[in-house]
Amino acid sequence: VTTLTATFFDVGHGDSIVVERDDPPLFSVVDCNLNLSRGETEPKAYRYLKSKGVTELDTVVLTHLHKDHYTGLEFFLRDFDIRVLRVPPFLSRNDKTHDKILKRLSAKIQEEIERSTDEFVFRPAYSLAYILAYVTANEDRVEEAAGKHNITRLCGFDAFISLPLPRIKGELHSKVQSHGSTSNTFPEMNAASVVLTVEHGGHRVTLAGDSTLEQWSEHKRQMERDRVTSVNATVLKVPHHGSRHNNDESLYEYVFKKTGRRLSIVSANGATHPHDEYFELVNKFGLEPYCTSLAEQCRAQNLIRLTGQTQLPDTTRPFLDNYRAEGPSVACQGDITVEVDEAGLRSVRGSTNNACIYRLPFAPSDT
Ligand SMILES: [Zn+2]
Ligand SMILES: [Zn+2]
Repeated sequence: VTTLTATFFDVGHGDSIVVERDDPPLFSVVDCNLNLSRGETEPKAYRYLKSKGVTELDTVVLTHLHKDHYTGLEFFLRDFDIRVLRVPPFLSRNDKTHDKILKRLSAKIQEEIERSTDEFVFRPAYSLAYILAYVTANEDRVEEAAGKHNITRLCGFDAFISLPLPRIKGELHSKVQSHGSTSNTFPEMNAASVVLTVEHGGHRVTLAGDSTLEQWSEHKRQMERDRVTSVNATVLKVPHHGSRHNNDESLYEYVFKKTGRRLSIVSANGATHPHDEYFELVNKFGLEPYCTSLAEQCRAQNLIRLTGQTQLPDTTRPFLDNYRAEGPSVACQGDITVEVDEAGLRSVRGSTNNACIYRLPFAPSDT
């Protein structure tokens, strides 16, 4: 039996995913967020891999250049032997605009480092500088990731890249050229977000980064020409931390498989994201939601509903304690681990053992 395990680490607002295969043992990393507001000095995913004695990584994926996806990624680049680093299209050195982009980014990083000793500014800038230096020095192992259905492997499993669509490269280049956009003033960066799906045991796990609705709807149009009408995902790390701007009905209609268990995973801090609309989609599509952090909507609306129940399962206790907790980010499911083997979905579990109101028998249907 070969098992595919995907772990979505609770890193507040940000993505940090480890994909692994047990036999032969292979490990990949998708994005990283060093949670500075929780006082972390090493990424959780890094500690996890180190504790397992891992020295080699099959693939490292950087979905896009936002700091909640790259802060701390240099830990992996520095300490592991990496077979391939997959980056968004405009990052690799295969055309002349690359040098210009690199120069702009470097200038911006320099400026940030000089302007502030604040860790929250300095630390991500350092990570970005390290990544850019690594990309420059390791051309042979850096590969651009682009869709629309680009077959690849991840930890030896079948995988494919859906987004970004190849033409985003030209669009981003011309924007960088004309506006002088830099890493932090570049909202289009999400449009270049890499989306990767890994397959095993009849399941498709789609890691959607911060991908945009615009990219997805163009993807859908292009795939329909090839008579493909769905991504058929059974597990979706939803785009952009459950933002209303990047999650809607037509996207879920297109991405999710029509029948069977469907899991939606949110990697957010629970305070600013996910948005209300995400929970409407969960209800509408009958998804099994898993959130790393406890969402504001659950604290606000469901505390009263839950405490009104007399027959609460014991597992809801820590969850109720969480409702009362102060602070911007409290673990809900914590680190979420999905295991798939040849026979299908074997287990889904959170590190906290908290119950989820949306997965309880008396789950609300009107929120
Ligand atoms: Zn993000
Ligand atoms: Zn982003």
